[in-house]
Amino acid sequence: IQSKLPGVGTTIFSVMSKLAEEYNAINLSQGFPDYECDPKLISLITDSMKMGYNQYAPMPGLPALRTILAEKVSTLYQASYDPDTEITITAGGTQAIFTALACCINPGDEVIIFEPAYDSYAPAIKLLGGLVKPVELSPPDYEIDWEMIKKLLTVNTKMIILNNPQNPTGCIWSEKDMQALIRLIKDTDILILSDEVYEHITFDEQDHKSVALYPELKERSFIVASFGKLLHATGWKLGYCMAPDYLMKEFRKVHQFNVFSVNTPMQVGIANYLKDPDTYTGLSAFFQQKRDLFRDMMGKTKFKLLPCKGSYFQCVTYSHLDDLKDTDMAVKLIKTCGVASIPVSAFYTKNTDHHVLRFCFAKKQETLEKAVERLMKL
Ligand code: PMP
Ligand code: GLN
Repeated sequence: IQSKLPGVGTTIFSVMSKLAEEYNAINLSQGFPDYECDPKLISLITDSMKMGYNQYAPMPGLPALRTILAEKVSTLYQASYDPDTEITITAGGTQAIFTALACCINPGDEVIIFEPAYDSYAPAIKLLGGLVKPVELSPPDYEIDWEMIKKLLTVNTKMIILNNPQNPTGCIWSEKDMQALIRLIKDTDILILSDEVYEHITFDEQDHKSVALYPELKERSFIVASFGKLLHATGWKLGYCMAPDYLMKEFRKVHQFNVFSVNTPMQVGIANYLKDPDTYTGLSAFFQQKRDLFRDMMGKTKFKLLPCKGSYFQCVTYSHLDDLKDTDMAVKLIKTCGVASIPVSAFYTKNTDHHVLRFCFAKKQETLEKAVERLMKL
């Protein structure tokens, strides 16, 4: 067949995790915890299976779960979303991103993304006939030049995708950035896709700035979230999307013929679990302890650490040590030190290589200690 995605290979997450396994390396590449999620949550889910919640859920998701999510967004961001018409439970953040794009991107539509960007955005846009307009950001601070973005806008600009906190850079959006975005899209019809899967992982007392906090953004945004991050259970592949009803109506038209609905007993278990907000309000503190530990230890290696203000990723640069391409450096680390990371060039359309590697610190303390001990050998 004629490929719809020529030039697209296997995602870097599969490539690096497979290599890590092959070389028996400590896997700090693909982002997932190596510790168990709360046993109470597992019991609630198995209980719901035993109670017979084993058939199709309603198409937009379990009402009780949508109601709890509406309460959560109202408490955290003082934003009102109608659980009946403005929240849909999805098969992970990835499906929510794809569906949000599929319901509004037409051939020729331009979508602005900030790179390094999570790797599912660009292929999804291309598959729909959209045109990716990447904005390349650079280390160490990956700051956005808003004057430059203004020049990128055309009559065909349909959407801007933001990811806050950002994977892979660990950057978070400041109030200044949010205000610049509001000014940029004023008097346009540009839509926003706000990937907020790391909303509960921000450090140093910095609050997460959801687009839900800003009425001018909320009214034109799809917000994507992931239970994988919220509950330390990436393998369950559950997430959700929130959007005003005129957007959610179109989202559900695609969703119903894509997956129809997602895992029922898990939705029941998660709804019961999230009744207690303490289940997620401590996430930032939980991960800050890991970030601080990892940064302290990594500071003793030869790498230079980049800032990490949110997400569970720490980026480092090695340009002062080696001029190997980052993809080669990542392979070298697996083979010589036994530690897997992600080369950040994989997140740029042009594979721009700033000699930056990303490490995931959502790991047990002993895993992080062992990994750094190995990296000391470099
Ligand atoms: N967006 C970002 C920025 C991510 O890092 C991820 C991966 N965890 C996703 C979306 C997809 O989330 P999920 O695993 O729930 O599909
Ligand atoms: N979000 C995870 C990461 O950035 C992995 C997601 C995936 O494997 N597709 O590492």
